[in-house]
Amino acid sequence: MSKLNHKIAVVTGGSRGIGRAIAKRLGSEGASVAVHYASNRDGAEETVQEIRRGGGTAFALGADLGSVQGIRSFYAALDRELESRFGTSGIDIVVNNAGVGLVRTIEETDEESFDAMMAVNVKAPFFILQEAISRIRDGGRVIQLSSAVTRISLPSIPAYTMSKGAINALTLSLANQLGTRAITINAIAPGFVATDMNAGMLQDPESRRFGAGFSIFGRWGEPADIADIAAFLASPDSRWITGQVIDASGGSHL
Ligand code: NDP
Repeated sequence: MSKLNHKIAVVTGGSRGIGRAIAKRLGSEGASVAVHYASNRDGAEETVQEIRRGGGTAFALGADLGSVQGIRSFYAALDRELESRFGTSGIDIVVNNAGVGLVRTIEETDEESFDAMMAVNVKAPFFILQEAISRIRDGGRVIQLSSAVTRISLPSIPAYTMSKGAINALTLSLANQLGTRAITINAIAPGFVATDMNAGMLQDPESRRFGAGFSIFGRWGEPADIADIAAFLASPDSRWITGQVIDASGGSHL
């Protein structure tokens, strides 16, 4: 049974990593997926092709989400695309996944890199939801990407950790308002996942072991581990869960 038939999903950062895995999973459950990318158009097209090969419907849309102007242009293009394909700009599932890392101690962090990271990790999810509120249909789903570092102290990424703490706060803050329309909003908090974001760690044997050792299962998370949770949160099965941060770290530092 396809649980997401007739649903329209928007996945930011669907061109690779966790976003691609989520887009593919939602597509395989029957959702029509808008696969967003920043600059990696080929990656987004590959995600689209993989969804189509599985019998699903998808299309790619590019936008830098680091500014409100970029977000508004993204929605203008999305509206046009949805109107022409489905005769409506309504959406059912929003996945706030796009994000960037910043591996710097507090002493090493400069204003420019702090602001650039916050623009993508904090400002963008906020304004993406501001625009989504008038488009998302009753009974819809919002899924945000947080991180397990919001409960595990890592001195190498304090600013990034702050950005994900903001996601947790936004998730709780909007749950009441969205709940009046039976829309749920939840965050997934992964531990170390093997994606480009951790390319440096994955290449270094000692860091690779460190990452694997975080999980009680002794391995790195895979994007599909996170996508399976997103599929549940996107489905009707999760209707009684909202305002929550779901740990998805393979039991890291329990
Ligand atoms: P990746 O680095 O693999 O992919 C990042 C995605 O974000 C890409 O699709 C990229 O688009 C997009 N993106 C980057 N900058 C911008 C921008 N300025 N505007 C719009 N989109 C942008 O990341 P992951 O898959 O690893 O991470 C996905 C989410 O999960 C992030 O929010 C991350 O913080 C979170 N997370 C990841 C963990 C991990 O260990 N990997 C752990 C915990 C949380 P493009 O391809 O076009 O550049």
